[in-house]
Amino acid sequence: METKVEKIPANKHIALVAHDGKKDALKAWCLAHKNTLERHTLSATGTTGNVIEQATGLNVNKLLSGPMGGDQQLGAKIAEHQIHMLVFFWDPLASQPHDPDVKALLRLAAVWNIPVACNEATADMLLHSSLMSTEFSRALPDYDKYLATRLNT
Ligand code: PGA
Repeated sequence: METKVEKIPANKHIALVAHDGKKDALKAWCLAHKNTLERHTLSATGTTGNVIEQATGLNVNKLLSGPMGGDQQLGAKIAEHQIHMLVFFWDPLASQPHDPDVKALLRLAAVWNIPVACNEATADMLLHSSLMSTEFSRALPDYDKYLATRLNT
């Protein structure tokens, strides 16, 4: 599939998700980076969003809980180009009933080429990037062109 270039804006829409064993880690990370995070738009799966809001006072758009469809909702928003970055502290030491949804979310983030952090170290590096406060270009699948090609055959 051909690709095209699209801008990720300076004000980013960041998705936040943490499995239960990682919620304290994400809470601590959000507290540490509250000043940066409040300059962006935040969405999260249900329980993660509640934890972050209560701990930080940040305004978080809360979707369904992950196992009830929240991961899929975030994936759909990534496919619709509404979400520009994913911070997903998945738990490498616990199995999840919604593992297919977890994989699907990570897969769509890769398909649409958005920055993804799965642990604190990567999330720290992303947030300290100069690209956090500016617009930047990313390549992504040119789905419109693909569709036009398919319709013509
Ligand atoms: P939760 O979902 O924020 O509702 O706990 C996260 C997940 O397990 O995907």
